[in-house]
Amino acid sequence: MMDTDPAKDMGSERKRPSSRKGAARKTRKKRFSQHLFRDWCKACGICNAFCPKGVIGRDNEGKPLFLKPDDCIGCRFCELHCPDFAITIVERNTRQEDKAS
Ligand code: SF4
Ligand code: SF4
Repeated sequence: MMDTDPAKDMGSERKRPSSRKGAARKTRKKRFSQHLFRDWCKACGICNAFCPKGVIGRDNEGKPLFLKPDDCIGCRFCELHCPDFAITIVERNTRQEDKAS
C-alpha cells in the first residue's frame, strides 16, 4: 500500500539547520597577503606573467604592484618562479581578523 502521509514526505526533505559557527566555517575563505622585497626585485615581470588571478600588475619601474590582493588564491606561482626570491606569500589569519572587526 502507498504511504500518503504528507508530513512524512516533508520530513524527509527537511534539513537540520546549521549552527552559526558551522555556517561561518563553511563560508570562510582563505586569504593571503603578498610581500615584496623591493631591493631584491630586478623587475623581470615573471610574477606578473604567471599570476593566474591578475593580482600582480607592474609599476613604472616594472616592479610588482599588488592590484587585487584579496583575489590571491595562494597558489605561490609568483613566489616559486621569482628568480630573486623577492616575493613571499603568507596566509592571513582570518579568524583573528574577524575577531578584531
Ligand atoms: S619575478 Fe621577482 S624579480 Fe621578477 S618582477 Fe617579480 S618580484 Fe621582481
Ligand atoms: S600566490 Fe598565486 S594568485 Fe597570489 S599573487 Fe602569487 S601567483 Fe597570484
